Amino acid sequence: MLQPVLQVVDVVKVGNPQRNPAAVERFRMVLSDGVHSVQCMLATTINPLVRDGAIKQGSVIHLQEFNCSTIQNRRIIIVIRVEVLQSVCGIIGNPRPYEPPNLPAPCVPLCQGTSSVSRVYVQKTIAQIKDENLWRSDKPDLIDVRAVISNVVADNFCYPACTLEFNGKRCNKKVTRNDNWAWYCGRCNQSFENCEYRYLLTCQIKDHTGTAVAIAFQEAGEAIVGYTAHELFTIRNVHQDEARFRKIMDAVLGREYLFKLTTMEETFNTEQPVKFNIVSVDKLDASDMSHRLLEEIDSLLKNFPHSTLEGASSDHSNDGYGFYRGLGSASPFRQ
Ligand SMILES: [Zn+2]
Repeated sequence: MLQPVLQVVDVVKVGNPQRNPAAVERFRMVLSDGVHSVQCMLATTINPLVRDGAIKQGSVIHLQEFNCSTIQNRRIIIVIRVEVLQSVCGIIGNPRPYEPPNLPAPCVPLCQGTSSVSRVYVQKTIAQIKDENLWRSDKPDLIDVRAVISNVVADNFCYPACTLEFNGKRCNKKVTRNDNWAWYCGRCNQSFENCEYRYLLTCQIKDHTGTAVAIAFQEAGEAIVGYTAHELFTIRNVHQDEARFRKIMDAVLGREYLFKLTTMEETFNTEQPVKFNIVSVDKLDASDMSHRLLEEIDSLLKNFPHSTLEGASSDHSNDGYGFYRGLGSASPFRQ
């Protein structure tokens, strides 16, 4: 087995220990052979070497055992056993990230940099986001997923929130009843008469590859349910109209959305399954999808040099430009 001697160009801790102190400590490392560099994850058994400073930027190490695999077109290298040959050393050469020639090129959105339309072509499946997030960096990426809401936890859809100002922003922390039956906020250390009910809607989302748990907070919750959390709370707990409440909640199920998700830090690197935070939702139906595609086509045509189009159309009896224009303006989805 190959046991190369390499230099550590960078080593960083992954995840956010302040938000999730219970998470397993993990380090990511960039290794160089002086010409090329690659990223890898460290097996946790090596963590003490990083904590003690034996492995740091510049260290020269002998890689004795490692594992290399490809998940969803991403190469994942896990360093299992190393020997530190020299802790302190200047960076050798000017290493550049290695691009393996045999991996398929990553999917690039058709209109990257030319269109303000959302990136229809870089959606991921639920199976993909679950796989990839096991190894995600600490940068919270926005992930587009097209899925239906297959279940919601209707009984605990909201929480009572603080309405005071904290550091110039609405506090929104969860409040509790005190002995005088007033609301109390621990962060603001104040009691008050009225709270606001805000969404904390736990959804199960589903596509053809699987299911995932995703939480919708205030704005996303409103977009999904169509009522504010406070209105819904009033319907259920003040008017005590359970039938209407159930009807509203049932209507949420089975709808298809384009979700923008981030991973919830507190579930990353723990034993429990990764949960997602719903940042925003776009309702999806056939006409929406057609509309998006037509906008993409329009913006492509706008950015296409006219001379090229004229040259191309002279070879064909059917002018491609006119065809797409015609389709665009005649479409019933363009109002
Ligand atoms: Zn507060």
